[in-house]
Amino acid sequence: MLELASYVGARWVAGTGAAHTLLNPTTEEPLARASSEGIDLDAALRHARTVGGPALRAMTFAERGAMLKAIADAMQGEREALLDLAIANGGNTRSDAKFDVDGAIATLLAYSETGLSLGAARFLVDGEGIQLGRSARFHGQHVAVPRRGVAVLINAFNFPAWGFAEKAAVALLAGMPVLSKPATSSAMVAHRIMQIIVERKLAPEGTLSFLVGSARDLVTHLGAQDVVAFTGSGETGAQIRSSRNVVRHAVRVNIEADSLNAAVLGPDVEPRSDMYELFLKDVVRDMTQKAGQKCTAIRRILVPQEWYGSVKQDLVELLGAVRVGDPKYEDTRMGPLASREQLADAREGVRVLGGRHAFGGPAPVGSKGFFMSPTLIEEPAEAVHEREVFGPVAALIRYSSNPAEIVARGNGGLVSSVYSEDQDFIERTVMELAPHHGRIFLGHPKIELSPGPGTVLPQLVHGGPGRAGGGEELGGPRGLALYMQRVALEGSRPVIARILGKA
Ligand code: NAP
Repeated sequence: MLELASYVGARWVAGTGAAHTLLNPTTEEPLARASSEGIDLDAALRHARTVGGPALRAMTFAERGAMLKAIADAMQGEREALLDLAIANGGNTRSDAKFDVDGAIATLLAYSETGLSLGAARFLVDGEGIQLGRSARFHGQHVAVPRRGVAVLINAFNFPAWGFAEKAAVALLAGMPVLSKPATSSAMVAHRIMQIIVERKLAPEGTLSFLVGSARDLVTHLGAQDVVAFTGSGETGAQIRSSRNVVRHAVRVNIEADSLNAAVLGPDVEPRSDMYELFLKDVVRDMTQKAGQKCTAIRRILVPQEWYGSVKQDLVELLGAVRVGDPKYEDTRMGPLASREQLADAREGVRVLGGRHAFGGPAPVGSKGFFMSPTLIEEPAEAVHEREVFGPVAALIRYSSNPAEIVARGNGGLVSSVYSEDQDFIERTVMELAPHHGRIFLGHPKIELSPGPGTVLPQLVHGGPGRAGGGEELGGPRGLALYMQRVALEGSRPVIARILGKA
């Protein structure tokens, strides 16, 4: 069986001791083994800081951007093999796999462009200079410089390619060396990407390390210049954030956790209108794409009282047409969940949400593989505002007056969406939702090829307050701030101008 190794200290190192077995979630066939036991994490981080850091900081933004482009191009060249791995190890349909792999390539390319636009600089000038005294000589200027530590990038199981790329692209462009750790159960795609990068020598020594298997005590080795960017469950995020070492050294931590994303249908939207059809399409796509294992997927469907019956009937019909099965077949619309644990967790979540099953239910589907039916719940328990069911599950909720108040019970989210053509309703709802979200998606049938609320775009920020972790990633050049230290320069204007290369 394939043994996945880690890439640390500029070499591939296999772990020792008990390994985790990675399965094909469709057939339950073992595919690979991974262990991080015995790997010297402290030495791995030191190598990244002392070898990778200086190499990266010597490069301009444009050169770092060119490196990202080379990685994207190499991934594009191996796209078919990466898609096959995502189908085998992730239970992805081909379309799900493309969502992950193509999303990774697009994000790398977007940050490569950002690098080119930042040009020959090695640090960022933040805003205009400020006259601080009566004389123009007393001057202030903010700049942002790369941190001197390692960016430890920890990913969730659902997007092994995109998760790897969206974090690494931003950290590398900012000038920080990376140690990337995929979730173990679906690590094969990220492992192959790392092999491609190493085989073709696309990143200077020490700039990109890769840890497969358990994180062990990784966060206990971090210091004040390091950054942790974590995506995963709120529970693991809280453990990392509260770790004694992280607290003591004020290690910068960004958490992307779970979210009870809502889709709100406006009272003005009549059944059969284009806006109504778009709403249904986005809901069904979010429930079934990646078998609902998307942090941005719609979990709560808010429908005005008078359209409730119609929406329910239409969703039941659309979900009934979704073919669940082996993702390697073209007519399969939804594959299995990623692991036995995820299936058990989603089934338990359905039980916790209570209510009635307008469609589907928690029972496993078939005798092999981690399959479950798309499940539409109505009249859910109050737990619908508390418990994320990370699977093909959403709940219908009727409202009579203020949907934003109901959405806010979810205590902070990544994205919610509004489908309406009534400008007053849109403005009122957006302003009420805004403080609770990182992104608000305004559905409109005239937007061509609208990706729906579930797609994270590199140009826009991703993250959210409260239960979503309180983090923020991406957002074009904004994303670089996580990996840089902003510093105010205060002094004589000509001296500062020379530092900025302006004199
Ligand atoms: P998880 O169990 O919390 O694991 C996430 C990552 O953390 C994995 O790589 C895991 O490694 C690692 N990890 C576990 N314990 C750790 C520790 N003590 N120190 C450092 N790393 C540790 O989450 P998951 O089941 O993979 O992901 C599902 C959750 O992620 C869902 O709740 C979903 O909403 C959320 N999610 C959020 C976003 C977002 O952008 N906000 C995106 C995707 C998913 P092992 O795999 O080796 O245990």
